[in-house]
Amino acid sequence: MKATVVLVSVDSNSVLKGAREYKNLFSQLIGEYNLSEMVDVLETGSFGVYMDGVLVEVLPDGVFYLVKSTEDVKKIVEEHLLKGRRVSSLEVLPEKVRSTVVETEELVKETRIVLRNAGTIDPTNIREYIANDGYAALAKVLKEMKPAEVIEEIKKSGLRGRGGAGFPTGLKWEFTYKTNADQKYILCNADEGEPGTFKDRLIMEGDPHSVIEGMAIAAYAVGATKGYIYIRGEYYESIRNIQKAIDDAYEYGLLGDNILGTDFSFHLSIRLGAGAYICGEETALMESIEGKAGRPRLKPPYPPVSGLFGKPTVINNVETFANVAPIILNGAEWFKKYGTENSAGTKVFTLVGNVVKRGLVEVPMGTTVRELIYTFGGGVANGRKLKMVQTGGTAGTFIGPDKLDTPLDYDSFKNYGVSIGSGVILVVDDSHCAVDIGLNVFKFFEHESCGKCTPCREGTRVIIQTFEKLSKGTATKQDIEYLWQLAELMEKGSLCGLGQSVPVPLRSLLDNFKDEIYAHIDGKCPTGICKMETKKKKKVYTRY
Ligand code: SF4
Repeated sequence: MKATVVLVSVDSNSVLKGAREYKNLFSQLIGEYNLSEMVDVLETGSFGVYMDGVLVEVLPDGVFYLVKSTEDVKKIVEEHLLKGRRVSSLEVLPEKVRSTVVETEELVKETRIVLRNAGTIDPTNIREYIANDGYAALAKVLKEMKPAEVIEEIKKSGLRGRGGAGFPTGLKWEFTYKTNADQKYILCNADEGEPGTFKDRLIMEGDPHSVIEGMAIAAYAVGATKGYIYIRGEYYESIRNIQKAIDDAYEYGLLGDNILGTDFSFHLSIRLGAGAYICGEETALMESIEGKAGRPRLKPPYPPVSGLFGKPTVINNVETFANVAPIILNGAEWFKKYGTENSAGTKVFTLVGNVVKRGLVEVPMGTTVRELIYTFGGGVANGRKLKMVQTGGTAGTFIGPDKLDTPLDYDSFKNYGVSIGSGVILVVDDSHCAVDIGLNVFKFFEHESCGKCTPCREGTRVIIQTFEKLSKGTATKQDIEYLWQLAELMEKGSLCGLGQSVPVPLRSLLDNFKDEIYAHIDGKCPTGICKMETKKKKKVYTRY
């Protein structure tokens, strides 16, 4: 390692803003100024926060810069690297990148288990992962633990699937372990498709080996020898980094036959999704890998017993697998120190919308919505008032400011009607209309419904028709009553999670923003966004 390192964040967002060009320019200028003996330029993943430029850290000084042009790169090289003088005009305070200061001056830091290496190591260099305890957990299970002991440790840790449903991970693994078969599979669901969700992408870009190691440990535990990572096809940087990590792991004997000299073999490869949201549903994903149209299967049988090609299959998402190695290395009790009684560990949340600091933040389960928005997110952007928050992604709940103190964990939906889902926190300020927001959300579901079952295929269309009527001021109270009935029908009659979860945002919107919905029935849009039709037309209502 050289005396000074320039770490350039090369996540997909930064790439679009010129990260690779800036990195190459840093290398070129460092060469021209004869600094190559002392300064290294390395890539890293996302630091977590999204800014209007490319974040760069100069180590060991720990100085962050926001680079927006080639001139900025020149200034940093000529001033900081050559003369040892910080470029204050480009500096970003470290607490704005990795932690935050609250009003009491108490430093509140993230708790990073999943994102432990993101923004600190070069994700394309396996040696950096290994130098940070990488693959030590895999070595530990292969040398010291029986498969049943691995499953027991994961069960004891209380790790639950981070994809949204929160099913206990160890229990899922146990079902597959106990099912006899000539072939078992491990699948990683990396088909992250909800609007506003990008945490799995940044995990894969920033620390791909953490996912691969988690999958290999799962394979050893359940007796699987093959695995696939099903990645959304548009995730170019994730695909690139995961493929490089797989190639390197094969080269280092950490994938393939007789891993680390044992009789355990595990082969892993990538499969690409083609942009259908429904392929994030576990059985649709399996259909897609099998070469069929990505449509959900009837359950049971469930994947742990009969999954890919009809064989026992463990399927977990990116964030879940990234938790596995730290649990094995530090123990179940260590993991349970974080989070709540029924929801151990941390959760990576995605802060999006009208919030000051957009990006990822990893905090213990049970952190409140208020803390996420105001402590870690810096509050509502542009000094506006908070109107609503959608928690848990597009299929999550809409809540008003009165529910900000809800702790988010896997019990928060049951206890407070606030879902954690995929961990998206969409902040909406008071310039937006609840009906307009709802219309956009339901259009997404109508577009992504695979059409296999009637309640979802037709139900999403009817919801949109009703919201369009609301936005024109032509809906009636009967229309709203009908939406409540439709929500129940879709929840009970839809075949898969997509149709079953549409009622979640629908009910929360109708319930928590009742006054605004009814104002539209009276022909008024409080924010003035909806273009109302005449009263005469308003009297017309549709029979479905
Ligand atoms: Fe397809 Fe929707 Fe039915 Fe799921 S609920 S199978 S997405 S139509």
